[in-house]
Amino acid sequence: MLELAVVSGKGGTGKTTLTASLAVLIEHKVLADADVDAPDLHLLLKPVKESENPFYGMKKARIIQEKCSSCDICRQVCRFDAIEVINGKYVVDEVACDGCKLCFRKCPDKAIVMEDSLSGHWYVSRTPYGTMVHGLLEVGEENSGKLVTIIRKQAMFLAQKEGVPYVLMDGPPGIGCPVNSTLTGLKYAIVITEPTQSGLMDLERLLDLMEHFGVFPFVVINKYDLAESKSEEIREYVVKRGGKVAGMLPFEKIVVEALSRGEPIVQYAPSSRVTVEIKRIWDYIENEIKRGA
Ligand code: SF4
Ligand code: SF4
Repeated sequence: MLELAVVSGKGGTGKTTLTASLAVLIEHKVLADADVDAPDLHLLLKPVKESENPFYGMKKARIIQEKCSSCDICRQVCRFDAIEVINGKYVVDEVACDGCKLCFRKCPDKAIVMEDSLSGHWYVSRTPYGTMVHGLLEVGEENSGKLVTIIRKQAMFLAQKEGVPYVLMDGPPGIGCPVNSTLTGLKYAIVITEPTQSGLMDLERLLDLMEHFGVFPFVVINKYDLAESKSEEIREYVVKRGGKVAGMLPFEKIVVEALSRGEPIVQYAPSSRVTVEIKRIWDYIENEIKRGA
């Protein structure tokens, strides 16, 4: 069983469009949306929730009023300005609290406890294209890397249970903490980029990160025909780094139409040039994986 993530150096490069299309094309797989800060795979795959599970990211401080002598020490030591006095009572702002425990250690009256705090949820859902594991953080919550790890573990568990060969992940954009959690332990990832200078710079950073984690990149250049010489520069750059360019998608207005209708492009426009190329890209990647690229 193989985990395959679709990632990009930044948002808005066509990552979810490609993932949703692969979700249609790959017959046997479990889907995972690891973009927990701004998940949008559900908009195209229309999951129906079967289970909802709480996610506790980190412990946060809570003040036990009966024990508090209002000494003000906790408010003074908190670097996140998370402790306020409201109507004469010391209280913790859960959103601002970083869980650093300094107030807990400094309180002379042992009036502060560190407690699990609900940071989001993760779900197992049914889609027309198979089981999907996805999650959502509460507004202002961090620790998205930990939620990505839970989603990956669940998706792997379900893939093993269902006996399917792939877990297909829509990865988070960028190179932050949730991307690290997505790439750890992966053998391959599909990287989607656009033919611009900033696209190339984002790609460079992402390929550096993938090299660090030992993940082999299959690169897809989206809207390649809007800047063919930059696309060629990116292609040469990827090859020079030892990666593979799996394909180049043309710009087509029908992709935007499919998105606004909430349908994967390969399903919405089966004979469009983009669909034909995505199918070719998947055939290529699957063959390369089988050959042990
Ligand atoms: S340090 Fe402890 S006793 Fe002092 S104000 Fe904070 S919670 Fe109350
Ligand atoms: S745990 Fe840290 S961030 Fe949270 S209230 Fe205490 S000192 Fe502030």
